[in-house]
Amino acid sequence: MILRRFTKHVTDQNWFAVGLDVIVVIVGIFLGTQVTAQFEYNKERVQEKLYIERLHEDAVDAYEITNINTDYRQFHLDNLNEIMRTLNEENGRSDITNLECNSIYESHIYADPSVALPTITELFSSGRISYILDEAIKAKISEYQIALDASSDVTFEIQVGATIMSHQYPDVITMPMSLEGFSTIERIAVQGATTISCDYENVMSNKAFKNDMVANAHRLSAHVRRMRIETDLIAELHALIDANLGVTH
Ligand SMILES: [Zn+2]
Repeated sequence: MILRRFTKHVTDQNWFAVGLDVIVVIVGIFLGTQVTAQFEYNKERVQEKLYIERLHEDAVDAYEITNINTDYRQFHLDNLNEIMRTLNEENGRSDITNLECNSIYESHIYADPSVALPTITELFSSGRISYILDEAIKAKISEYQIALDASSDVTFEIQVGATIMSHQYPDVITMPMSLEGFSTIERIAVQGATTISCDYENVMSNKAFKNDMVANAHRLSAHVRRMRIETDLIAELHALIDANLGVTH
């Protein structure tokens, strides 16, 4: 229709009408582009909200896991610090409780992997991270990913050379001959019970034991610090998501 009219105007040499036709076409194309762009924008905003809602679920789940694990390792680190105070004669004690002994036994265990949030992984792998227009959330996501990258480097360094104390010093640490008395996160953290025991006199006289225990404590300290950084970042991301979604807890 437009083409036929345009051809006629050219044939008639009606240049004013030709000019109008050209303007109509240009304006039409421009409006069409604008409508398409607006449609795409709206579609991405719907997607952004869905991603942020999924991120919220991820952050809640990840925090629950990492916070429990971090507190559990912190519990062992606190015990090791208390044992060092005992051995330094700073607290008037001359014993090592079974719970504290269990922390020596577990001082070589750093089996708490970093938690990658599935939605963040998907946002990066699909190239849709640009859908997230909330700059604060986007910056926190980047911060978390950088922390995870740094963790993968430091995790290996922490684990190398750790001493398995119960294996290296059987004259100091006595393990229960039953899984009933064995340590688990629930048994230690919730029930506060274990039957792993340490011979205090042997600890006092064994310099190699004390050196290896302190070296493991340093590793555990670095491990807890790494976990705490990740846990705090997840909590900060969660707070930003709550603000974006208008959620209060
Ligand atoms: Zn929330």
